[in-house]
Amino acid sequence: MPFGLCNAAQTWMRFIHEVLRSLDYYFVYLDDILIASTDTNFHKKHVRDVLQRLDDYSLTINAKLIANYKQPTTVRNLRKFLGILNFYRKFLPKAAHIQAPLQEFLKNSKKNDKREVEWNVEAISAFNQCKNQLANVTLLAHPSQDADLTLMTDASDIGLGASLNEITSDGFKPLGHCDNVPADAFSRISAIVTLSTIDYEEFAQMQQGDDELKALLSATNQTLQLKQLRMPGSTTEIYCDISTSTVRPYVPHALRRNVFLAVHNLSHPGIRATAKLISKRFVWTSMNKDIQSWTCSCIPCQRVKIQRHTNSELGHFKVPDARFHHLHLDIIGPLPPSQGFFLLPYGH
Ligand SMILES: [Zn+2]
Repeated sequence: MPFGLCNAAQTWMRFIHEVLRSLDYYFVYLDDILIASTDTNFHKKHVRDVLQRLDDYSLTINAKLIANYKQPTTVRNLRKFLGILNFYRKFLPKAAHIQAPLQEFLKNSKKNDKREVEWNVEAISAFNQCKNQLANVTLLAHPSQDADLTLMTDASDIGLGASLNEITSDGFKPLGHCDNVPADAFSRISAIVTLSTIDYEEFAQMQQGDDELKALLSATNQTLQLKQLRMPGSTTEIYCDISTSTVRPYVPHALRRNVFLAVHNLSHPGIRATAKLISKRFVWTSMNKDIQSWTCSCIPCQRVKIQRHTNSELGHFKVPDARFHHLHLDIIGPLPPSQGFFLLPYGH
């Protein structure tokens, strides 16, 4: 299936569900298959079964295909190969540096360039190195909330690179790589933002002083089911809502704005998306109202987005009574007021 089709993800999901149908211990999201088993022996069997299913449908692991990838002859095919590499870029350390001799061929090339690639020793070595890299992609670690992070950076004449690692008892584990050629790097500076970990002590203290929470706890007819629970990695108990499938801490008044900023400032989504993200993890009364008003007043959002379109009232126009009679009306405005008017209707 080609990369980049707008409904490729949906088609793939349908297909992979068909492949794994009737197995009740897996969860699949795009190209990740999670297998949950009760013990090690079952897990080994489940993994074998899933691999067997993939094999039955002739699904092979990408690395094998990449290892046999033929050296592209035209600039167009080389671009395709680099496109595949780009897809896995975050797993490839020093990608820009290694790919530099290949990127040289794309300079001043057209989209569908059928020119032949004039391979030289340096480029052939870069091509083979790229293939090896893809076949042995660095396994990225799953981020741990307690681990300290370290950002390692490197720069050369060709590129800039960085890798984000977490420090564990087994040493450094990579969470992601990013690198760029300089011009590109400077045009896309992106910040690494992480959700600050919650200080549960502070959270519990603030909850104790929260009048709204007190009222909720004494009320009998409310939808939230509040219960004191101990959070992972902490000895303090905090009030959480257990009415949904996820346990959501009840956010006291003083911390609501911080919670909003921590979630909203990651990517500045709109009102609905922000509310969805926050309500999955936290709860408080009037949260939708707060989120709506904070999102609407977010300055970075206002600078780059159109928050609402002007709703003009419908005008009344005489309906043409014969065929080929048209009424065209342009409305220009708002203009500086002139004799109390600031719109200019122009009909013809
Ligand atoms: Zn915003």
